[in-house]
Amino acid sequence: MEGLMKGKRGLVMGVANDHSIAWGIAKKAFEHGAEMAFTYQGEAFGRRVKPLAEQAGVKLVLPCDVEDESSVDAVFDTLKSEWGKLDFIVHAIGFSDKNELKGLYADTTRANFSRTMLISCFSFTEIARRAAAMMEDDGAMLTLTYAGSMRVMPNYNVMGVAKAALEASVRYLASDFGPRGIRVNALSAGPVRTLAGAGVADARHMFAFQQRNSPLRRSVDIDQVGNSALYLLSDLSSGVTGEVHYVDSGYHIVSMPSLEELKK
Ligand code: NAD
Repeated sequence: MEGLMKGKRGLVMGVANDHSIAWGIAKKAFEHGAEMAFTYQGEAFGRRVKPLAEQAGVKLVLPCDVEDESSVDAVFDTLKSEWGKLDFIVHAIGFSDKNELKGLYADTTRANFSRTMLISCFSFTEIARRAAAMMEDDGAMLTLTYAGSMRVMPNYNVMGVAKAALEASVRYLASDFGPRGIRVNALSAGPVRTLAGAGVADARHMFAFQQRNSPLRRSVDIDQVGNSALYLLSDLSSGVTGEVHYVDSGYHIVSMPSLEELKK
């Protein structure tokens, strides 16, 4: 199947480097004919993102730090003047102080709780509202989440709480924008080795455990996440909204370690 994204224009937020989940998604969207704009957070990331943007034929590469509302406004001002209409957005942004991605959730500070929620959860709502104003029928919005929202994952702590709120936001936004034909979904990816993923203490142990104990006995990569994103961003999923779709080799259905693991 080819050209699933032909004629569609979208904003992709969260490419930091070629390991980023957003990059896995952008590559697939580009292969299928999408025209995209990228954002990057600060000039250090910008230097890495610009060559990737070039590979994906992206001409609009814009700075955006979601902690600064005016930088979010500036992105949408540019999109409005350059494109007018928007067909899809990818929000692949998350952050928490890594000093709190270890130890007890109960020790989360007020300041980091607020900052984590603003960057990892509220930013999606803020961006979705602006994007919806530029969408007509058939708009698609996608964010990235993790199963630490539903079940306790060691050290994921406040990020799990933020992801639970993000998933709830997906349902409310899907209800808000559904009457206009705009769909809002989340992909729940299994652990992937990225900058953000490495911020969680002992991440490599979690990675190995999920690899050994998921039904498919393997981890996922950004190309697999990209393929599933293609489905949720394209008209293939025109009947799907408010959904959290797992791309985790099936790990979320498992209740205990595999028998071969237990018998070791
Ligand atoms: P990544 O480090 O490549 O991407 C995270 C992105 O968030 C970066 O581009 C960073 O610049 C951006 N970001 C952080 N704070 C920001 C701010 N204030 N303003 C604008 N951008 C900001 O890591 P990733 O793993 O590709 O993360 C993308 C998304 O996928 C995140 O929401 C993450 O929680 C989610 N996710 C990751 C995994 C995993 O195992 N890596 C699993 C499931 C979900």
